[in-house]
Amino acid sequence: MEKIYKPTDQLTLQGNEMEYARTLENNNMNPLRAVLVSLLHLGVEGLSDSKEKKYIKSANVIFILTSVITIVYLTMAIFWDSLLWTTLLAFAEVISFSALILNAYGQINTSRYVFVVGVNLIIFLSSLMVGPFAHIHNSLMLSAILPFLIFNTRKSFQLAVSVAFPLVLMLVYTRMLPYFSAYHLAESVQIKIDSAGIFVQTVALLVMVMQLASNIRDKEDELELSHAQMQMQTSELRRSNSDLEQFAYIISHDLKAPVRNISSFMSLLLNKYGSTLNNEAKEFVNYSYSGSKRLERLIDDVLAYCRIGTNLPQPVPVNLNDVVKTIEFELRERLYDANATININKELPVVSHVHASLMYHIFQNLISNGLKFNKKEHPEITINWTNSLNHYTFSVQDNGIGISKEYSTTIFQMFKRLHNEQDYDGTGIGLAICKKIVEYYHGEIWFESKDGEGTIFHFTIRKF
Ligand code: ADP
Repeated sequence: MEKIYKPTDQLTLQGNEMEYARTLENNNMNPLRAVLVSLLHLGVEGLSDSKEKKYIKSANVIFILTSVITIVYLTMAIFWDSLLWTTLLAFAEVISFSALILNAYGQINTSRYVFVVGVNLIIFLSSLMVGPFAHIHNSLMLSAILPFLIFNTRKSFQLAVSVAFPLVLMLVYTRMLPYFSAYHLAESVQIKIDSAGIFVQTVALLVMVMQLASNIRDKEDELELSHAQMQMQTSELRRSNSDLEQFAYIISHDLKAPVRNISSFMSLLLNKYGSTLNNEAKEFVNYSYSGSKRLERLIDDVLAYCRIGTNLPQPVPVNLNDVVKTIEFELRERLYDANATININKELPVVSHVHASLMYHIFQNLISNGLKFNKKEHPEITINWTNSLNHYTFSVQDNGIGISKEYSTTIFQMFKRLHNEQDYDGTGIGLAICKKIVEYYHGEIWFESKDGEGTIFHFTIRKF
């Protein structure tokens, strides 16, 4: 099929393709522009980090600009017939070119350091020789901005050192200035240097501000892009999560009827023809019956898990005392048989904006686990709570067998069980359901436990 190229396809060009596209573009430019573009791209070839590329290009702009400015000064120095100035400015020219050449050879960090050290030393020495009247020392302050343009701001150590260097030189300059008064140039020359200096400093400041603004704009664009990408990923995750839940729901729902059929017919078989079967056959049918019953429970629990948060009515204030009383009533026989009690330390609160059915699920799971995983003669479940500005924290404590600390996160995963079916029955979904409900209310769930002494499950519910 024919590929249709959209205008945005260009955005997907990467690495070598980009370089190739630039070479093609260069071939169609006028020679001066082509040289400038090539100089601007020195050192970026083959790099994949777009941020680093941006800083290298920014450094190249500064290096080119400095060498142009230095050439202007150099011409002036030759015109003034000052050997000292000519030497200094020739040195500045060497520094700018060296930085560009080092970039071209991929020595990006060395190039940056050479430039920062060289430029600052030249400004420092010329300030000492010319004297304060020409205001060259002000350029040291400008130099402190320079590292933000040429160093990748992720490399904070390099940045800090390069910002500190001109500031230290500024300090040294103020101390050393009196010793250099003999070298100061004639006032008329100082005025000329000052006028040229003001021009150069203004241009440099303008370029720096423009470059900084462009870097900040790039950063904002990057931030916007990553924010948009994050939002896309989140919605994609949400979608695939709900797809998965929908899938689990449909499968479970469709499995329910045939599994119920198997259980019912197994039960019928046992009731009607049990007497005619030999012991081994009876045992096999019994296994099949309990297997299908377990499957039924699993399906019900998976369905309950999938249903959390769907088709819920409007949240209302829920009196948790009523919720726990209902659970206590439903568990009355188990509590009586096990000689167990449920204690509520202080009257539970009425929680707004929740759903009674979900609150029931959490307390029901935690209380019945506290009774189930308990070998004490007198199992005790104690419910407590605290109130804070943003959330309620509830705790359900038992004096049961305890849970090892290593399961602090895995215990809340679906189907995670620490014991086998023969010792303690269950499906391993109860705590996963609790976690999902708690997270639905923007809370957290965790436990503290001591082997053989009991477990306290804590969970929070955010107030809205
Ligand atoms: P189930 O109770 O159906 O096995 P849960 O998700 O409620 O599933 O619990 C998962 C596992 O965590 C349990 O099998 C058990 O090993 C452990 N567990 C949960 N609650 C307690 C508790 N209060 N004391 C000790 N172990 C517990």
